[in-house]
Amino acid sequence: MNEEIVQLTLLQAIDHIIDNIDSNIQEEQEALDIKSAELADREATIVSLTEKIETLEKERRMLEVEIADEMVNVKERQSKMMQVQTGREQTALLKEIEDGKNGVKEKENKVVAILEEVEQLTADIEENKNLFKGETELLLEETEKVRKAIAAISKKKKTQEKKRKIQAGKLKGQLLKKYDTLRAHRNGLGVVNVVSGVCQGCFMTIPPQQYNLLLRGDEHFDCPTCQRIMYHEAVEEAEK
Ligand SMILES: [Zn+2]
Repeated sequence: MNEEIVQLTLLQAIDHIIDNIDSNIQEEQEALDIKSAELADREATIVSLTEKIETLEKERRMLEVEIADEMVNVKERQSKMMQVQTGREQTALLKEIEDGKNGVKEKENKVVAILEEVEQLTADIEENKNLFKGETELLLEETEKVRKAIAAISKKKKTQEKKRKIQAGKLKGQLLKKYDTLRAHRNGLGVVNVVSGVCQGCFMTIPPQQYNLLLRGDEHFDCPTCQRIMYHEAVEEAEK
């Protein structure tokens, strides 16, 4: 195989190790981010439940004021009953008293319903707070674990980066630049094998004349479709 290609493929092997390390770090971080987001959701739930209770309590206080007023009205009408002369006036007053009592009863039922709902919401908050506490502790542990894992992975990355620097030094500046640019724009793959006339980067068939030249094994070309640096390695083709 062409010497430049040999060095390039060695470089790409190191680069793939570094890529894997990077994605491992990212995965660790993302798992942690998801848990943090879940915890934030839990906190938001507690806030929203608390606000709901506040709204209900306000409503309950209003109802209680209305009930008190209504009861005063009922009492006033009851004492008026003594002074009423005609049967018609008495009937009208009795109706007002009845309506007032019904109104009080209705509002009292609403208050009871609110109290029950508040009780349920309070229990929900309590449950969420307990979960939040446990989850916060877990997240702290998890964060520490991830921090250590990332530190260990980063150490491996440093070793690989040193290797990469040495390997990159074996390549001509221009070719290295080309390879780096390709890798950046072509999904981390700058140099590719050609198997049965097909570029293993973009999986397009290359012109037969180019393939024939590649088969000689001492040259490399750019893929006409994806521009990646192509080479031919017979061993891999034989395996396929
Ligand atoms: Zn290609």
